[in-house]
Parts: sequence; structure tokens; C-alpha cells
Amino acid sequence: MTERTLAIIKPDAVAKGVAGQILSRIERAGFTILAARLTRLSREQAGGFYAVHRERPFYASLCAFMTEGPCLVLVLEGDDAIRRWRDLMGATDPAQAAPGTIRRDFASSIEANAVHGSDSPASAAFEIPYFFSALDLCPR
Ligand code: ATP
Ligand code: MG
Repeated sequence: MTERTLAIIKPDAVAKGVAGQILSRIERAGFTILAARLTRLSREQAGGFYAVHRERPFYASLCAFMTEGPCLVLVLEGDDAIRRWRDLMGATDPAQAAPGTIRRDFASSIEANAVHGSDSPASAAFEIPYFFSALDLCPR
């Protein structure tokens, strides 16, 4: 089934200069990029985006990390896009991520882990409009 998912190339990956390599993997995997924006999140924007984690011990640190520099926010479309993008990302902890995944190859730590992906249709339905209006999307 064709799905849309929100992807973020996180500040650590943009700072390292590997955003292009990650975009290349996205294109090679056959996703259609419907929208893209380079943005530096405010503390409020990061906190709202990750509000689901507000009770977790790493929440404050995660929100600080997400504001450290610009990130590249994307909407990806494709068959089974939510699961396929998370497969390409790899496990949250790069030490547990499978060989060939983005996090295995580019993440620095369980926090600075290079990329984000929506984890369900419900989270994609929250996350895509968090960053993009319908007019920002370029379907084809
Ligand atoms: P994301 O939601 O960013 O795609 P994920 O779904 O793999 O990642 P979550 O459990 O949703 O993982 O955690 C959100 C983010 O919080 C992680 O990607 C990571 O940046 C950070 N994080 C998760 N667990 C930890 C931890 N134990 N210590 C520090 N940071 C963490
Ligand atoms: Mg998550």
C-alpha cells in the first residue's frame, strides 16, 4: 500500500556532512521525496515533535540535541514506506543496527542517531502536518 512517512536527517548527520549520502540511499531505495526543508528547530518545536517521549529520562537531552543545528525534514512516499524507511534506518542504537543500515553507518550514539522515521500510520499523520502543509507536498 502506498504510504507517506516523515523522515528527518538529524543535526548530527547534517553537521557531519553525510546528508547527501543519506539522500542518495533514500533515492536508491525508490522513495519519492514529496517535500524537503532544512530547518533549525527551536526547543519548543523539538519538544512538541517528541512529546510522546516527555516522560522518558532522555527527553530533555533529546530535545537539546535536536536543536543543536539544522536538520533536513522530508516527506517520503512509497509502497510500505513507513516500515521500509525504518528498515533502511536500522535500530535506534547504532550498536544494535544491522550492517548496511543508515544508523550503523552514520550514527554516533543512541541519541545522535542520524535519522528519524515515523513509526506508524498514526504517527505519520501527526508528524507530516507538524512540518508541512498540504501545499508544500509535490505529488507525482
Ligand atoms: P526516532 O523516533 O527518532 O525515529 P526511534 O523510533 O528509533 O527513533 P524512539 O524510541 O522513538 O526511537 O526514540 C526517539 C529518539 O530518542 C531516538 O531516535 C534517539 O535519538 C533518542 N533516544 C532513544 N532512546 C534513547 C536513550 N536511551 N538515550 C538517549 N537518547 C535516546
Ligand atoms: Mg520513534
